[in-house]
Order: sequence, then structure tokens, then C-alpha cells
Amino acid sequence: MSGRRDELAERLGAVRARIDMAMSAAGRTDDVTLVVVTKFFPAADVDTLAELGVTDIGENRDQEASAKVAELAHRDRLTVHFIGQLQTKKAGGVVRYADVVHSLDRPKLALALDRAAERAGRPLDVLVQVGLDTSGGRGGVAPDDVAALAEVAAGLDHLRLRGLMAVAPLGEPARPAFARLRELSERLRTDHPAATWLSAGMSADLEDAVAEGATHLRVGSAILGSRESHR
Ligand SMILES: *Cc1c(COP(=O)(O)O)cnc(C)c1O
Repeated sequence: MSGRRDELAERLGAVRARIDMAMSAAGRTDDVTLVVVTKFFPAADVDTLAELGVTDIGENRDQEASAKVAELAHRDRLTVHFIGQLQTKKAGGVVRYADVVHSLDRPKLALALDRAAERAGRPLDVLVQVGLDTSGGRGGVAPDDVAALAEVAAGLDHLRLRGLMAVAPLGEPARPAFARLRELSERLRTDHPAATWLSAGMSADLEDAVAEGATHLRVGSAILGSRESHR
């Protein structure tokens, strides 16, 4: 057990050092939130991470996430981010444990999340997920549809539109894709000044995301290890 704790502490420290270096290279002194993506890993790891100072975790599958969050000893210290594709019928369940949904990708889901947040009696933070690849293979709305979906989310009483999220496209360098995301974010903020969050960057490309203004990094394997052995 303590071996695992040491391993997590060391890798977390290394990721934090990478973030600090990238922030200073970009001349940034604002805050960036590290969301540790704990999918496939047990609640015990999440508890250890919370003891090591992690405040935000990311999960991408409803069944796994709801079971895991229910087991957490340190739930009160953690903000839970839902980062995966979400079926409309799962909206009610996700709103019960998630504080933020990063993967808003269609108006119907916005409506379902709004109704679920109303029933839960608390507002839900949402990010519009943008598809940066031309094939649409990694999810999200096309860049041209961001404004319309943002308008829908902003008009709902129980959702708080916080900004944009994206995954770097496959087979293309991340930096120019994140630069396009940053432009979309700037455009979004002219209509929605409070939508300042930019969720981008994973284990392999967090430096590129920091350079393009990411406010939230979603880092899994660089901290928890390979998910292959946990599937
Ligand atoms: C799994 C996942 C991550 C974390 O990826 P790593 O490469 O393990 O850091 C980030 N974002 C999303 C949307 C994911 O599904």
C-alpha cells in the first residue's frame, strides 16, 4: 500500500513540476486546475490522491463513477468532473455526484442536465465540448456550432456555462489545435464573459494546452499509470 502511495506522490509531483514549468514558460501567473483522471482506478487511489492534496478528479463512465464516488472517504474535499460522452437518460444519475460536466455536446443533453440539476436542487457547471478533428471521431460539437449550443446552455436556469473543453485530435500536433480552441474561447467570451474555463491537455500534451491558455488539465496515466492493466 505505501508503495502505491509513494508511486502516486512521485508521479503527482512530476506532473505538478511539468505544469509549473509550462506556466512559467508561458509567462502565466493565473491559476490552472489539475483534474486527475481516475477512471479504471479504485476509490483507494482517489483517497490517497486526496491525502496528497488533489482537489479535483475526472471520471468518464457513469456506472463506475457513481459506485466509486459513493465509496470515497474524502468526498467532501473533492470536486468531481464528468468528462465522458453522456447519454441523455444518464443525466439524472450524473448530476447526483458530479460538480462539473465537461462533455456537453448537444441541446437535448443540455435540457436533460438542466432538469436533473433542478431536481437535485443545485446548479451544475457545464463546458461545451468542441470537436477539433475534422472526422468528429473524438466527440464534441463542430466549431461552427459552439455558439448555438452555448446559447442554449446559458439560457437554462440550472446550468452555469463555464467555457469549453476539447481533446487534441489524433494524428495532428496538439498545439495548433489548442490554438484554434483558444480562439473559439475568446469568441465565446464576447457573448458570455463568465465562460472563462478552457479544459484541454492530457498526460501527453499538457504543455501545449498550458501554452494556449488552458485553465483545466485532465491528466490520468501520467499520475495513475497505464490503464491497460486495469481494464
Ligand atoms: C482518459 C481521459 C483523459 C486522461 O488521459 P491521459 O492520457 O491518461 O492523461 C483526459 N480527458 C479525457 C476526455 C479522457 O477520456
